[in-house]
Amino acid sequence: MSDHRVDGESLDAAALLTEAVGHFGDGLKLACSFGAEDVVLLDLIAQNKLPISVFVLDTGRLHQETYDLWEQLNQRYGIKIVAYTPQTEPLQQLLQLKGPGSFYHSIENRRECCHLRKVEPLSRALADAAGWITGQRREQSVTRASLPKWETDATHGGIAKLNPLADWTEAQVWDYIKAHRVPYNKLHDQGFPSIGCAPCTRAIEPGEDLRAGRWWWENPEQKECGLHK
Ligand code: SF4
Repeated sequence: MSDHRVDGESLDAAALLTEAVGHFGDGLKLACSFGAEDVVLLDLIAQNKLPISVFVLDTGRLHQETYDLWEQLNQRYGIKIVAYTPQTEPLQQLLQLKGPGSFYHSIENRRECCHLRKVEPLSRALADAAGWITGQRREQSVTRASLPKWETDATHGGIAKLNPLADWTEAQVWDYIKAHRVPYNKLHDQGFPSIGCAPCTRAIEPGEDLRAGRWWWENPEQKECGLHK
């Protein structure tokens, strides 16, 4: 368990990342889902030459645009993005028993699929990490309104969990992407503010909650996949 308790609220994103590297050395990992916030974080890490590794939870159900961006980022930054995929046997069992679209039929089924494709692979990704970094922001949804910038993740053995963009607005994210010409997911140009699995993510209308397109058939209070508790 980490003994490091830092009040990160007063630090901007780059300073927070640098401070965290000072604490944890090369033990930090960025969880990249290829959304706008994640490419900002990738660019900040590259610009500041920080020894932070990057991983993706490749659920097997991502959009083609997401895989295209993955390729682009590899080329732009020359980084190695480590993929964690679901375990074969339980995935085969799920598909055999319930078919490929079970998540539409109940919250339990949706959580089962998210657990298999995201939550369990995340545990493997974080098993040797001192801390992880996410692109979560407070204004994204009701479930994230009081998100701290630096917290302890009890679910993953008390490692640090950093949310350097917690207080950023959507406009700030896009200003950064444009100013630094950062490659971004083309789904954002098609009305997708939040990127997830293809069958569980849709475009939103102007004025809708930023995560309204994720699991749109569920209530807002239930819309987390289990990665963030
Ligand atoms: S977002 Fe949908 S497809 Fe992806 S893991 Fe969760 S339920 Fe499964």
